[in-house]
Amino acid sequence: MTAPIAVVSGAATDAGRWRTLNEDAHLASAPAFLVADGMGGHEAGELASAAVIAEFTGLAGRPSASVDDVREALDRARAVVRTISGGAAGTTLGGVVVADVDGDGYWLTVNVGDSRTYLLRDRSFEQISVDHSVVQELVDSGELLPHEALRDARRNVITRAIGAGSDAEPDFWMLPAERGDRILVCSDGLPGELDPARIEAVLRAEGDPQAAAARLVREAIVEGGRDNITALVVDAVTVVTQEVGDTIPTLDEDTRPREGDAVRGGR
Ligand code: MN
Repeated sequence: MTAPIAVVSGAATDAGRWRTLNEDAHLASAPAFLVADGMGGHEAGELASAAVIAEFTGLAGRPSASVDDVREALDRARAVVRTISGGAAGTTLGGVVVADVDGDGYWLTVNVGDSRTYLLRDRSFEQISVDHSVVQELVDSGELLPHEALRDARRNVITRAIGAGSDAEPDFWMLPAERGDRILVCSDGLPGELDPARIEAVLRAEGDPQAAAARLVREAIVEGGRDNITALVVDAVTVVTQEVGDTIPTLDEDTRPREGDAVRGGR
């Protein structure tokens, strides 16, 4: 079976300059591109994020995964995290899963907490996920401006998690994929150091997804590296669509963009 979205990806992570432990964990293996940012101290966060990611590794190698697949992995992950540090451990989970909707390629975006998913498409660059955080709620209610949220003392306080006493539901979004899409999944340590314009500039400057992920993490360290930093960059090289009247053989080998082709050249 053919994957509904053919991707190339890159991943980079670093503990940063102040923390000895890296409590971020990630999975960057089609169809799942996920980041978990653990919390709880005394290695509990590290165990929680790793345990959640471990529940998704079984998806690797499949052409696509469904909302039910993600829910089942999440349920298993919750049960495991509950056993760590007497229930005190917790983690975020955010990212994209390649999904198949009636034969079309979709980005299934999932979020619990404040790890983020962004989409770079043509001239736009936007955050798809909505943070589950105190500052996001204050921004939504008009009590805080977005730029104030970046430096607010409460910026690390999240309102949903896996574990840490939270049973909250994840957010899911289904987004039709387009060829040339570039997805960024990151822990809060990245936007904590680089503003969105800088992140976008790096994503446009670096054609290779591994080079882009590595440079984002490197720049965040240079800017302070106050938290663990993880960045995944996922490029849609080919997307299957079944549009009515579409006579373009999108899966034909001859129409596939090659490495270094114009698909990423526009960035
Ligand atoms: Mn973090």
